[in-house]
Amino acid sequence: MEKTLSIIKPDGVKKGVIGEVINRFENNGLRVVAVKMLWMDKKEAEGFYDVHKDKGFYDSLTDFMSSGPAVVMVLEGENAIAKNRQIMGATNPANAEEGTIRKEFASGIERNIVHGSDSPETATFEISYFFNALEIFDY
Ligand code: ADP
Ligand code: MG
Repeated sequence: MEKTLSIIKPDGVKKGVIGEVINRFENNGLRVVAVKMLWMDKKEAEGFYDVHKDKGFYDSLTDFMSSGPAVVMVLEGENAIAKNRQIMGATNPANAEEGTIRKEFASGIERNIVHGSDSPETATFEISYFFNALEIFDY
């Protein structure tokens, strides 16, 4: 069993697709083992996306991520990291496969509804960025 961090970004929360997104995870063998809603400030968004600090889109991305509440979750399942990314679809919705979350709901490459960890190392960092051990459940 593997764990991964998922975020329903502020655009997804504002669009009212929290339930729709979580349904897709649950219907595809991913279990929600931790969940909370929070509103990141600019510094918290910058810390989360530190790996992208040298990219041209960093300032705009961190403005967007701190523009409203987000739902952060830990998903657990077999190959949870890859499975989550498959359900999400490609970063740019124009390249995302039919039926993926980003294909159906994203409005552009930045406002693409969801985040998912991309490796075991980033999953460990990202989960611990938002959750402590007492907030993640084994059930
Ligand atoms: P992913 O979220 O698919 O792992 P990245 O890690 O490459 O994608 O990028 C992190 C986030 O930064 C993306 O989800 C998207 O919101 C934003 N982003 C990525 N590339 C661009 C870009 N070229 N222009 C604007 N925003 C971008
Ligand atoms: Mg990424």
